[in-house]
Order: sequence, then structure tokens, then C-alpha cells
Amino acid sequence: MPELPEVETIVNDLKKEIIGRCFVNLWTDTENMIKRPSVNDFTKKITNKKIVDIKRRGKNILIYLDKGIILLIHQKISGHLLLSKWEFINNQWVAKPGPLSEDKMNGYLHIVIGLDDGRQLALSDQRKFAKMEILKDDKIDIGPEPLEIDYNSFRELFRNKRGKIKQLLMNQEFIAGIGNIYASEILFLSKIHPEEEVSKLDEKDFENIFKNMQFILKESIRLRGDSFSDFRTIYGEKGGFQNIMKVYQKDGQPCVNCKTKIERFNLGGRGTFYCPNCQKKK
Ligand SMILES: [Zn+2]
Repeated sequence: MPELPEVETIVNDLKKEIIGRCFVNLWTDTENMIKRPSVNDFTKKITNKKIVDIKRRGKNILIYLDKGIILLIHQKISGHLLLSKWEFINNQWVAKPGPLSEDKMNGYLHIVIGLDDGRQLALSDQRKFAKMEILKDDKIDIGPEPLEIDYNSFRELFRNKRGKIKQLLMNQEFIAGIGNIYASEILFLSKIHPEEEVSKLDEKDFENIFKNMQFILKESIRLRGDSFSDFRTIYGEKGGFQNIMKVYQKDGQPCVNCKTKIERFNLGGRGTFYCPNCQKKK
């Protein structure tokens, strides 16, 4: 699933490319990916209005249009936005030679929105869980942004909290934008077991988690996200964070610190990766 760094990469690129442009039409073969209003009303609302701003909130993309229209896109498990110029031939979107036509992850187009300059903004999503909707306002009820919060406020989030640290970090209501990949990597760098009860963590642990959370998220933004799975940039290219991951999907491989084999177990239905030697329970 695209997490904070992947969504940030998409938003930053889109800002450079489509602010000031207008959407002019919409095609979809999967109407239920447009949650509200109906596809016809949705199309009417978003077309022929200037795109004035684009923001990220957690894993959500917000596109602000003239007349106060706010379009929300959540890419969910396997969705990603692409920007290019396709041709519609024999009921199929055909991309130019390059990553958009050669990488099959860029070929599951289910919503294609035309722009007034002849290009299209398309949503490629193999599993079709992604969604678009029009919002009444841009208040999204999720936790604070990990790159905007300061240490004291971060520390305060844990006051009187119970639970396992990895699950809290991945809980969008607790803190926004972090999913399985980054929670695993943050805890490895912090030398904390993913199942550790937060009540057992000390000040030094929280300082490490905070520092490593900001470091890893920024590092991944710099590398343009993680493409271990299906994420691609709006140009259809892979990011680079998967090349420096230390534990995620590395079960059976030696830990970079101590050579102990990385292990995998299931935590709340999610594959969880850690070094049993570096990340001991207290
Ligand atoms: Zn280790």
C-alpha cells in the first residue's frame, strides 16, 4: 500500500505538473471506485474547474479545484496515479513505449481523467480497492502528521496508551501515513520488538522511535518511495527505498547488524519482520 513517502512523492510531482490545468472528462470501467456522488455528478463537479492546489494528508491525496470543490483520492492497497498521454484504441488505453507500457503494474487503468492539455491523470489499480470521492471539507479525522509533529507532542500521544508499538504506529487514528513497511523499518532501527507493549518503553526508546520515524520517512521521500510491490511514480517509474530496506520481506536473510536471520510472524493479520537478536522484548 502506498504509505506517506509514496503519497508525498505523487503529490509533489502532481503539483509541478497539473496545478492551473482543468479536468475535462472522465472514463471508468469500475464505477464503484467512485464513492460519491454518482459518476455523472462526480464528473460534472470536477470538470472545467481550475486545479488550484494539491495536498497530502496521511495516505490521502486532496485535489483542490475552483469553487471550493475538493477531490479525495485514496490509493488503498495497490492503486497509484499516473500522468501521461494515452490513446484509447479498441476499448483499451494504450501507452507510449516506456515504463507505462512495459511495466504491467502501470496497466490496470480503471479511472482515466482527461486534462485540458491533452494528457490524462489515470488510476492504475490491480486490486481495485482505491477510491475517489468529493469531500464537503478537507477535515480528515486521522492522527497527526509524523513529519510535522514535534517530539513532545509525539511523546504525549503515548500517555496512558496501551497496545503493541507496531500496531499503534500503523493505526491511522493514532498517527497518520505509516503502514507495514515503515513501521517495520522504524522499529528495526530503534532496536525495539514490534510486539513490545508501549507501557514498557522508556524515554530513550521514544526518542529513538521519533528520530528514526522522521529519518526513514524523509529518506524514502528522497528516494521517491518504495516499489518493492506495486507502487510507481506518476511517470510509471520505480522508487528506490526497497533497495535499502533492512527487515521488511527479508525473512531468512542475515540481519545487517548481527547476521542473525530475520524472522517473520503474524501480528494483527500483517506479516511482521524483525531481528530476534537486535529487537529483543524487554
Ligand atoms: Zn540483528
